[in-house]
Amino acid sequence: MWVRKRIDIGWLDLLSARFNCVWPGSRSSASDVAEAAWSTDGRAFACLSVRSGLDLALKALELPPGSEVLISALTIPDMVRIIEHHGLVAVPIDLHDEGVSPRVELLAQLVAEKTRAILVAQLFGGRFGLAPFVEFARQHDLVLIEDCAQAFEGDRYKGHDEADVSMFSFGPIKTATALGGGVFRIKDESLLARMRELQAAYPVQSRWFFLKRVLFYTLLKILGGKLAFGIFVRACRLLGKDFDEVLNGSIRNFPEDEFFASLREQPSFPLLRLIARRLRSYRNEDLDRRAARGALLASLLPLEHCPGTAASAHSYWVFPLRVDDPPRIVAGLREAGFDSTADSSMQPVEATDGRPEAAPETARTLLKSAIFLPLYGEIPESEIHRMASLLVSLLAVDQASMK
Ligand SMILES: *Cc1c(COP(=O)(O)O)cnc(C)c1O
Repeated sequence: MWVRKRIDIGWLDLLSARFNCVWPGSRSSASDVAEAAWSTDGRAFACLSVRSGLDLALKALELPPGSEVLISALTIPDMVRIIEHHGLVAVPIDLHDEGVSPRVELLAQLVAEKTRAILVAQLFGGRFGLAPFVEFARQHDLVLIEDCAQAFEGDRYKGHDEADVSMFSFGPIKTATALGGGVFRIKDESLLARMRELQAAYPVQSRWFFLKRVLFYTLLKILGGKLAFGIFVRACRLLGKDFDEVLNGSIRNFPEDEFFASLREQPSFPLLRLIARRLRSYRNEDLDRRAARGALLASLLPLEHCPGTAASAHSYWVFPLRVDDPPRIVAGLREAGFDSTADSSMQPVEATDGRPEAAPETARTLLKSAIFLPLYGEIPESEIHRMASLLVSLLAVDQASMK
């Protein structure tokens, strides 16, 4: 069975992380090293996660209560939760029909007197050009935040120069994971200084917590071979746990105070060391291998089923496929040894009562009809071909049954 997702971390990374959990090193120098590994211009900022950093940025920005944030209509629900926690209103920007970038032409219609910021997400590993958003933000004096949590591209992209905040995630299911952590690029020095000050007042993440996490993902990686992983998924189900939530280390169901307490910590020494290690030793070839598999698969499938494959740069963090009958396609794939899923950690951002014109129809439709195919560099090309021919026949039946 080709499992739906592999944890993108090496055995040596995990070993060195275990070692660092007990090594008495200095946090502040580890933080400097991690930030310098990302960028030496002094604009990098390391934090506990993208969500933690967004929370810090919003704290530091102190936007007036009731301000509106225009946000890509598809993202993880925690982002909206954080925005709302700061007394702000999230107004969705719907996506293009082909499915990944927010429609820039909607901005003029959505912007209002209370709009203060734009938060756009680079989804699935694709990346659209930010220039029109930069231009719009400048014209309307809005803070521009770029969510690159799914769009890590090694040292090839570190955020748009003109974005106020660019956020990269090293959470467990992300490319080049450090089992947590976020690395940001912040344009404005005073904003960066304020975020540092706020973060410095937080308690430090416990090493013991991080060690447990390292051990858990080591186990998951051992099981992640092929077959054993399916057993793991089933075991999670039997224990009443959702596999995707376990994999995400999800804290979705935390009540408000616990949720924010869990975000408001400084990254621990071992986490910072692991971030630095991943950034320094990441090989772009690994990314290229995955991107090549993705491009091959896309070239073998009908274009209208592959949302986002036209993006200018694409690393295929995941491969979404648009289908009419997700459970049937997932079952058909599973029978042939490909573990796909119709579950996503993302959700459409719903429009608030005051802004019905913002209803995110395309994002909703996309999520309802998307399944996510297994895709990583370790899958040989021959298997990509086998998956593609299987899909072509499954999709043909799919369409025939619709007529
Ligand atoms: C994973 C993800 C996040 C959250 O990243 P964390 O570092 O886990 O907080 C935010 N936005 C998107 C689009 C993501 O995929």
